[in-house]
Amino acid sequence: MLCLGIESTAHTFSCAVLEKKGKHGKICSDIRKIYRPPEGEGIHPREASRHHIESSAGVLSECLQKAKVRINDLDLIAYAAGPGLGPCLRVGAVVARSLSTYYQIPIYPVNHAIGHIELGKLLTGAKNPLVLLVSGGHTMLLAFMMNKWRVFGETLDITLGQLLDQFGRSAGFASPCGKQIETLASKTTNYFPLPYSVKGNDVSFSGLLSAAKSLAPQGLEDACYSLQETAFAMIAEATERALSFTKKKELLVVGGVAANKRLSEMLKSVCKRQNCKFFVTPLKFSGDCGSQIAWTGLLESQTKKSSEIENTFVKQSWRLDTVQVNY
Ligand code: AMP
Ligand code: MG
Repeated sequence: MLCLGIESTAHTFSCAVLEKKGKHGKICSDIRKIYRPPEGEGIHPREASRHHIESSAGVLSECLQKAKVRINDLDLIAYAAGPGLGPCLRVGAVVARSLSTYYQIPIYPVNHAIGHIELGKLLTGAKNPLVLLVSGGHTMLLAFMMNKWRVFGETLDITLGQLLDQFGRSAGFASPCGKQIETLASKTTNYFPLPYSVKGNDVSFSGLLSAAKSLAPQGLEDACYSLQETAFAMIAEATERALSFTKKKELLVVGGVAANKRLSEMLKSVCKRQNCKFFVTPLKFSGDCGSQIAWTGLLESQTKKSSEIENTFVKQSWRLDTVQVNY
């Protein structure tokens, strides 16, 4: 089975072709173009969607060429139907719908967050993990029970990705800023106390963001280090409690912030204490990409019929814990 996956929820427009044979998945191609806002600014949904429209034809043809397939070879098309920015989501949906109707290929709307999890499981081999999803759009602890991904903790305000990006933009970095903050943070071990806020199993980052912003003029490296140490320690505490509560023996970290080495280091020591295996999505596939959508489409097609074209909407705030998973 061959599936084309289309991702366009936020900054990235990506197409990927994946092949599924039995339980095995192979990434035949994964092409991306990323919208980069001007330094110090966030994603402007209209500008990002314009970028996606301009990129779509080129990304699609490069993706098919690299996979050495023609559109007619595809068994299905999956697109990220949400959650995400409305104008951006619509670009992916229009491309998917056009190909599906013109070439008569079954179409599957896919939840982007579930895409992160399923691709993480495929690439790491984790079987039944507690999942930490940390990205621009999510900060959640999840476990699969009774056909749904259940939330065991989440952010009460901004996500971990937003914390890093908003702090970075206030310091004049170009978004996304996580990598640059990680590099600056690695140059010091000078810790300044910042607000630490874990409430039950949830976290809150807005106070930490304001305090870190006011610390920045005293020394950017120290501020980056203190911000990372505080935010990641909060995440590690919530993760450890969720591991202890769910008794899961695997932890899987997915989403763009999974690329951060210091976060992995802290979570590895949590896993050691909880006698649990640690998995993290490989760097190249931790952020948004077509592969996560293609693979989830292939899994969905095992138990679900494809969508009627009139049901191929986009849903800006589509929570993953509302999705019934039967595969
Ligand atoms: P996603 O929404 O899954 O594409 O993830 C994007 C988020 O990942 C952005 O907020 C980035 O700043 C963040 N990110 C990417 N690389 C790193 C890194 N090395 N350390 C921390 N955050 C990162
Ligand atoms: Mg994402």
